Amino acid sequence: MLLINKAEQIYKENFSRTVKFERAVFFSWGCTIGDCGFCYMSTQPKDKAAQETKRSTASILAEFILAKHLGWDIGFFTGGIGVFTPDELLVLLKHIFEITKEKIWLSVGPIPKALLQKYQPYIMGVVGSTETINPVLHKKVCPSKPIAPYEKMFEAAKELGLARAMTFIVGMGETKEDLPLLIDFIKKCDISKIHMYGLIPQKGTMFEHSPIPSQEEQAWWIAQLRIAFPKLDIQCGVWEDRAERLALLLKAGANSISKFKALKLFGTHVAREFERQAALAGRTFEGTLTKLPQINESNIVDQYSFDRELKKEIQKKVSEYLKVMEKNCKKVVLAQIH
Ligand code: SF4
Repeated sequence: MLLINKAEQIYKENFSRTVKFERAVFFSWGCTIGDCGFCYMSTQPKDKAAQETKRSTASILAEFILAKHLGWDIGFFTGGIGVFTPDELLVLLKHIFEITKEKIWLSVGPIPKALLQKYQPYIMGVVGSTETINPVLHKKVCPSKPIAPYEKMFEAAKELGLARAMTFIVGMGETKEDLPLLIDFIKKCDISKIHMYGLIPQKGTMFEHSPIPSQEEQAWWIAQLRIAFPKLDIQCGVWEDRAERLALLLKAGANSISKFKALKLFGTHVAREFERQAALAGRTFEGTLTKLPQINESNIVDQYSFDRELKKEIQKKVSEYLKVMEKNCKKVVLAQIH
């Protein structure tokens, strides 16, 4: 507990007592790499080309609109590597920027400098999905996704003045002795944000029967980084089966939360538990996972310059999402009455 207390103290000295949910918006369910040992995209049927696994533009943009109304930050925009051509991605980034009015984080594999320059008006930084820094473990879990190209991207991003973030999954087989490697990597690549996830044993992957990391393990990594890097932006990924650990992860020094299926599970008991855990950690939850937004669906897309057909599709998608959210909220209210 000494470690957590120290980390919490350092967090309090450097950040406000608030917490936000950060939505990772995915654009596909397939990937041209497709063999990372923990990733659900590697379990998708191979008979479909990754380029055919894109979500519709309308559904992606609807999610950005809702995130904005719910007060969520965008963790990053991501999906399978090689799914979009650079031109397709650029069009999407422009559309997204029109909605967010803010630059977002982008995580689409190692991006060459020339492309970073093209995306730069719409992105604040790049996320390297590094997953683990232990070289032996990395080779095993990401056989076709080496770290070196990400290091090159970080260098190019730094030259362009773009921020740099990375991902780390606790529970794949790293040991506490790997901490210095991670600290050195953060220093070397001048990383300002890290996404600290806990393994989700996906069906059909090499981790299918692995245990999930304990809350103490995930908190240990977060606390160590908070102590080593008082100003580092640390996001903790918390799946819906482990909401009860959120307070500890926040006390360990995490700034924000992600991974929760916040649209699908909006307003449910788990969503309420996330907000309760934030309060337990002494944080004010900014934005909401439980209160329906005040939205006029009929004019929600009027302000955008998208073509008429796309606007109609986005509006339809927003309504579909809202219906699910409303249904969840009603269910909880009914359960309280009975
Ligand atoms: S590159 Fe990313 S999306 Fe593709 S299989 Fe690996 S982890 Fe999954």
